[in-house]
Amino acid sequence: MAYFEMSRLALKWALTKPPTSHYPFEPRHALAGSRGHLIFTKDNCVYCTVCAKKCPTGALTVNRAQKKWAIDRLLCITCGYCIDACPKKCLALGTAHATPTVTKDLEFC
Ligand code: SF4
Ligand code: SF4
Repeated sequence: MAYFEMSRLALKWALTKPPTSHYPFEPRHALAGSRGHLIFTKDNCVYCTVCAKKCPTGALTVNRAQKKWAIDRLLCITCGYCIDACPKKCLALGTAHATPTVTKDLEFC
């Protein structure tokens, strides 16, 4: 009896699509309302540094003189605090996850 039950389960799992995926090669389907990653739109940015000052983890670096905005993706916890602080509405949270990073380099925009 146990043999047939084991065979039935083995056949079932052999014919069933695996519940896991080969992330990041297969992009993960974003769930509704998920906080994927911070999106920066530089068009309206005045490099006021407010977002960097408000960030609780120090993930943002803004250089006003050089007009450079940068983020350390490994430090960002997608809290959205910088989004509320930005006076020019340059920041938003996207639902999709960013490409995994393998270095600690800043991402300049
Ligand atoms: S708060 Fe907004 S406008 Fe100011 S530097 Fe940050 S993204 Fe740019
Ligand atoms: S979402 Fe939060 S942790 Fe990420 S950069 Fe903005 S304030 Fe910092």
